[in-house]
Amino acid sequence: MEKEKLENAGFGTRAVHAGNIRDTQYGSLTMPIYQTSTFYFENCEQGGRRFAGEEGGYIYSRLGNPTTTVLENKIAALEGGEACAAAASGMGAISSCLWSIAGAGKHIIADETLYGCTFALLNHGMTEYGVEVTFTDLSNLENLTANLRENTVAVYLETPANPNLKITDIELLAKTAHEYNSDIKVVCDNTFASPVLQSPLKLGADVVVHSATKYLNGHGDVIAGFVVGSAEFITRVKMFGLKDMTGSTLGPFEAWLILRGLKTLELRVARHTESAKKIAQYLYDNEKVEHVNYPGLPSHPGHEIAKRQMRDFGGMISFEIKGGKEAGMKFCNSLKLCTIAVSLGDAETLVEHPASMTHSTYGPEDLEAAGISAGLIRLSVGLENVDDIIADFEQAFKQI
Ligand SMILES: *Cc1c(COP(=O)(O)O)cnc(C)c1O
Repeated sequence: MEKEKLENAGFGTRAVHAGNIRDTQYGSLTMPIYQTSTFYFENCEQGGRRFAGEEGGYIYSRLGNPTTTVLENKIAALEGGEACAAAASGMGAISSCLWSIAGAGKHIIADETLYGCTFALLNHGMTEYGVEVTFTDLSNLENLTANLRENTVAVYLETPANPNLKITDIELLAKTAHEYNSDIKVVCDNTFASPVLQSPLKLGADVVVHSATKYLNGHGDVIAGFVVGSAEFITRVKMFGLKDMTGSTLGPFEAWLILRGLKTLELRVARHTESAKKIAQYLYDNEKVEHVNYPGLPSHPGHEIAKRQMRDFGGMISFEIKGGKEAGMKFCNSLKLCTIAVSLGDAETLVEHPASMTHSTYGPEDLEAAGISAGLIRLSVGLENVDDIIADFEQAFKQI
């Protein structure tokens, strides 16, 4: 299908068709896996032309691979960006992205509630090399305006944030940052929403990053990440961030698995969301539950913003049981169908304890500032039948 025609096509159509190339050699329906590290040249002159950028074509799979290219073009189409760079993990994407923007003497403003390893990268990784980082609550716009400086090059956020589902108004944040300095890159981690439910670039963000390990692949068998943005910026991420700084290239087999997963992304996210809404309400009504974080609940402080900037509320929930950490651990340990594991967006319902697992990179004060209480449980609602998930919760609650 031609690109222009697909721009107006629905999400599912784009997920199946965008970016695809026609295999004219053998007529393969699905994209072949080009499982090769390198590509031969007809002669030395051709090799020279490719390295000089005078001729198209592949050189070496760290710089590009046909299977990965199809995936990158598809993700760019799904996020509404000009281009995309694939990486070997979400952290590979985030670090390649941020090293392509910031260096010694530059300043990043980051939200204080972030995935644990992103927090570590910003808190005690990049700062070791002279990057200045201010952590603040970006859901309050005053905290952005108070911290913008002449050397600010990036504003970094997640919405909904991991693990407390905090919602930040992307449009307002991007507008304010760009009014101060149009060169500032507003970078949004769209892992929790997925492009099915939220399009940060259309709301004014400059760059979207993903852990494709989660919903995009969706089958719990790949570690991968993406950076999406302008063609100019993605060229810098590929030719500097990925090529020189991190070398965090995605393998062609993983790229192929994600292409396979994407075909059902829209269906999966719809099911995750439908079940999550029922489970969030079930938890909200449960007298053993202290509080529930789910942007679809009217009680959520970001509910109105989420209604505006998301197409639906997604499959992630976090909650605290009365009795705090001890009761929470007892609950998790009593589950029979649901599994205790980090990661999210898989077919299996997964529960985890952020303070001791995904967010153990945070110190005690940082945890408090980030709104990650000691008893918080994070839940990734899977694709099982929702009644079976709730029945498992029922029996686990009885153990407390
Ligand atoms: C998992 C996760 C990451 C890191 O991705 P990896 O693929 O594990 O490297 C980054 N951001 C968010 C929101 C995540 O959930």
